[in-house]
Amino acid sequence: MKTGTRIILAVVSVAVLLGAGAWLVRGRLATTAIEKLYVKAMARAPDDGLADGLHVGLCGAGGPLPDPKRMGPCTAVLAGKRLFVIDSGSGAARNLAMMNLAPARIDGVFLTHYHSDHIDGLGEVLLQRWAGSGNPVPVPVYGPEGVQAVLGGFMQAYTLDKGYRVAHHGAATIPPSGFGGTAMPFTAGQDQPDLVLINEPDLKVTAFPVHHDPVSPAVGYAFTYKGRTVVISGDTAPSARVEAAAKGADLLVHEALSPELTALQQRAAQTAGRPRLVKIFGDIPGYHTSPEQAAELAQRAGVRYLLLSHIVPALPVAALEGPFLGRSRTLFKGGLRVGRDGDFISLPSGSDKIIRSDRLKMIR
Ligand SMILES: [Zn+2]
Ligand SMILES: [Zn+2]
Repeated sequence: MKTGTRIILAVVSVAVLLGAGAWLVRGRLATTAIEKLYVKAMARAPDDGLADGLHVGLCGAGGPLPDPKRMGPCTAVLAGKRLFVIDSGSGAARNLAMMNLAPARIDGVFLTHYHSDHIDGLGEVLLQRWAGSGNPVPVPVYGPEGVQAVLGGFMQAYTLDKGYRVAHHGAATIPPSGFGGTAMPFTAGQDQPDLVLINEPDLKVTAFPVHHDPVSPAVGYAFTYKGRTVVISGDTAPSARVEAAAKGADLLVHEALSPELTALQQRAAQTAGRPRLVKIFGDIPGYHTSPEQAAELAQRAGVRYLLLSHIVPALPVAALEGPFLGRSRTLFKGGLRVGRDGDFISLPSGSDKIIRSDRLKMIR
């Protein structure tokens, strides 16, 4: 055997042995790695590694239908060190935790309306905010009229669980007074001006009515922190109020439904002999906004970045994003993205930068 061949064989043998050795101890290696990750996860704050500014994350980019890339509606806003969550669809609490936006850190919840897909994760968000933080004060939950009943219902449903946790860990660890949320209702009629909910030197939060009839009230929200602004549309047909609120905004998170793809679902229901579904799929587009309509609105408003969310129908493969968008990219000249869970847009204060990252990348 030639020397060169011998060397190659020796190197390959060592590599195989090392690989086999690592394979045999893979459990121990993974345990050591996960322990380090636990420490890192528990020690970090939501704004670790971020410049001071306004940061917006999609903790749920989907609508009511199941989508492997998108949980129920949830948008997180990090204004400096304060964390706010707008809507809490199913999966919200889990996505928030995985995005280093632990529900325990939430300073306020804002609800746009009371369609079930926007609130069906609220119980877990409230539970984890309380049990995870030990905060003796319940989290404020802002919403148009009706928030008292919705919040009261969730707190009622979690009353037994509250008892178990206090009995198990003790009131000193989990103060019963911090359970649930405090309803912060406001009136949001169509003819009313924008309503200022928080007005501080660095942070302003306003609510404005949108068009989601027969769902009323329904609102959107605008957050301005140190000169940077994000507007969140909530569920709505094209709305002049969203457009006005979004004038010159850095970022518009707008709901989007593709009428063409929804029509395919309606046709499928027809073919399958499901008349009720035919009717429902026919009703849906009227109170939502198509991607092209959102693009036109964003262009008129002079928005710099349009992040589509509440994506309907589900887009299980990326190849569907083109048909979903239609002509949107020619209608809107700014940055445009079909939102997915984990999308994170940073708007550092004192600059005009818009930086996109993926807060779920580590675990994908
Ligand atoms: Zn919805
Ligand atoms: Zn809705």
